[in-house]
Amino acid sequence: MKVPLLDLKKQYEGIQEEVMKAVGEVFDSQMFILGPKVEELEKEIASYCRSNYAVGVSSGTDALLLSLMTAGVGFGDLVITTPYTFFATAGAIARVGARPVFVDIDKVTYNMDPAKLDEIISSLKEEKPKAKAIIPIHLFGQCANMDSILKVADSCGLTVIEDAAQAIGAEYEFSDGTAKRAGSMGQYGCFSFFPSKNLGAFGDGGMVTTNEMEIYERLKIMRVHGSKPKYHHNMIGGNFRLDALQAAILLIKLRHLDGWTEKRRKNASFYRELFDEKDLAAISLPKDIGKRHIYNQFVIKVEDRRDELRKYLNKNEIGCEVYYPVPLHTQPCFNYLEYRPEDFPVSKEAAEKTLALPIYPELSSDQMRYVVDIIDQFFKEE
Ligand SMILES: *Cc1c(COP(=O)(O)O)cnc(C)c1O
Repeated sequence: MKVPLLDLKKQYEGIQEEVMKAVGEVFDSQMFILGPKVEELEKEIASYCRSNYAVGVSSGTDALLLSLMTAGVGFGDLVITTPYTFFATAGAIARVGARPVFVDIDKVTYNMDPAKLDEIISSLKEEKPKAKAIIPIHLFGQCANMDSILKVADSCGLTVIEDAAQAIGAEYEFSDGTAKRAGSMGQYGCFSFFPSKNLGAFGDGGMVTTNEMEIYERLKIMRVHGSKPKYHHNMIGGNFRLDALQAAILLIKLRHLDGWTEKRRKNASFYRELFDEKDLAAISLPKDIGKRHIYNQFVIKVEDRRDELRKYLNKNEIGCEVYYPVPLHTQPCFNYLEYRPEDFPVSKEAAEKTLALPIYPELSSDQMRYVVDIIDQFFKEE
């Protein structure tokens, strides 16, 4: 039985007609840059994320870059994030001339560990005033510990830029019982519409959400080279625009997003049932501790022989992937930061032991049963 890691063709089958009609309308209009479709999508995404405003951009990476630029982060500044994320988070920090300051992750959620955040901030000493922003990542679709992160950010005057690329619609419950959605808790929320994200475009795309009107206005100016009025520049921005075609497609797909997310959550519970039956000591399952985990990835931890298991699954036509095999503090391009591999032991261990299994909405229960059976078989064969 074939079980791909993701099956976008299957998803497309269900929405083909609507999508063709929507892109046809954009073709007929011959208006491809920003315009009414992008504005409509911005309103809908803002409302979906329970944010006041949203600005459509060219990718999740550009959402991060635009947010940092708009927040005025630049040369010599420090920006705090984790080394266990997609490269773009730290790449964007370096690209504005700032220095990434890494904080290790929590063992269970793979998100920023608030206790270690306190330690790192104290260790900055006289450099502390240079710290301008913090980028928590809501990794795999589960929100970071925002209670603690927002408290620290507040006391240190840090701008909070949420990397919500994997977390559209994920919810976090604060200690006072209120709940908020990913992207609505900091000053900036960054989303990606890369095809493998829960809301994927037919190409690249992204969004920045914010609750503050002043930030919203600046984001829109910085998205078009810092130009306002046209051809007059008080600021240096870039071309960070979202295509009207992508917006038209995303408007269609957004209507299905909650249904797809519920299916992903159901698949996660079904995996739990199936794994419980097998009682496999060698693997641990992801913990759903937030209010609403949206399972962009279902990531298990394999105590031993992860890479062999990965090969075994591939041999049996099951797609799986390691997110992420090389923690960012050990990437050659960040040698100049002078971190040692053992500086972030939890990230290092995660890179060695995690494995993402198929969790996409269209997955059948037979396919999931097959995945768990093959994993069971692998450990029995040893
Ligand atoms: C996908 C992703 C990005 C980048 O998004 P693109 O749209 O691919 O540029 C940034 N951060 C995280 C955590 C991501 O998963």
